[in-house]
Amino acid sequence: MSDSKVFIQDCNDYNSEIIYKKLCRIFEQMRFKVPKGSTVLLKPNILSAVEPSKSITTHPEMVRAVVKYFKKQKCKITISDSSSDTGNSPTNRAFIKTGMKKIAKQEKVDLVSFEATKQKKVKTKGKVLKNIMKSELLLKSDMIINLPKMKTHSLTGLTGSIKNMYGTLSGSQKQKFHYDYQPIERFSELIIDIYEANKPTLNIMDAIVCLEGNGPGTGGHPKKVGKIIVSENGYALDYIQQKIMGFKSNTSVIEQAVKRGYLNKEEVEVIGEYSNLNFKKPVTSSNAIKDLLPSFIVGYAFKQLQRKPVFNNKCTKCAECIKICPVDALKMGNTQPKLNKNRCISCHCCHEVCRYTAVLLKPNLMGKIINKIAELANLT
Ligand code: SF4
Ligand code: SF4
Repeated sequence: MSDSKVFIQDCNDYNSEIIYKKLCRIFEQMRFKVPKGSTVLLKPNILSAVEPSKSITTHPEMVRAVVKYFKKQKCKITISDSSSDTGNSPTNRAFIKTGMKKIAKQEKVDLVSFEATKQKKVKTKGKVLKNIMKSELLLKSDMIINLPKMKTHSLTGLTGSIKNMYGTLSGSQKQKFHYDYQPIERFSELIIDIYEANKPTLNIMDAIVCLEGNGPGTGGHPKKVGKIIVSENGYALDYIQQKIMGFKSNTSVIEQAVKRGYLNKEEVEVIGEYSNLNFKKPVTSSNAIKDLLPSFIVGYAFKQLQRKPVFNNKCTKCAECIKICPVDALKMGNTQPKLNKNRCISCHCCHEVCRYTAVLLKPNLMGKIINKIAELANLT
């Protein structure tokens, strides 16, 4: 396990000069050193083609500050990600809208989508993932710097350092894995395996303005936190993120990380200040409900709690959700997509990809009753 120290600095503005100074302060505290001339890959969260003000993607001024630091060390820098959007050149569209293209041009660094690079099949030492198609950028870089955004997530509770590396998958792998790796506990194991297969040297989280509620896309709302959070250990960082967000029980990824020995909560040491900011949680239910129920009923209860998409009149019929659905559970109707409930695996990819807040996630009646009980028991 890498060092479990988590470094936090206050930062209230997306001003790259200020962010740069705060980062230098943290790197001094960490005694972080970069060999001159290293090849460095920066992996921000570029989920989809949305403006930085939506707080869905890593802010371009945060990326600019990191670029500036590595440029001073004479590094060869590439920024890369693979967005969840579909259609022609989806990541390139997202690079433009999120401001990433502009800063790459101004700072004269390479910007390339993972799907535009050569892919190689690589064996992994994962628990559930035995091999993976990996971009040559990930294979050739001396350092991978993970730049997650602090956000809630309707499927995994939160997305931070560990989940951000899922974005290194390109092509249809992302959707296929949602189908192949069910239920959520197995999907969490997969996310950990992907993080381990592409282990970043450093995780630098944009927690200045975050996302609460029904993230990770347009269903969420910006929430000011005013922090930059850095750690070599993504599990330790996400554990502190979980505390800042005010989760009352561990998310599935944190739970699996503890079981696998990647996270020892007692060893996490925080250098800096933080508090519980009690984020609005995704409408999906808390893990803690499991502890209330006898084991024979847990499977049934969780099936009832799985939320299915419902479409509202904000739908523009862009069909992105239909293209991304891994099980063909959607087809276009007269005014919005129609759902085949029997096919739907509740992966929430349609909710994540919709840029028009047109996909809501609703439980069935039994799910509503179980949620109410959890709410009354103060578990959510
Ligand atoms: S629900 Fe959203 S993603 Fe799906 S067709 Fe409508 S606008 Fe497009
Ligand atoms: S309809 Fe939406 S939630 Fe259901 S399987 Fe398809 S993408 Fe996933």
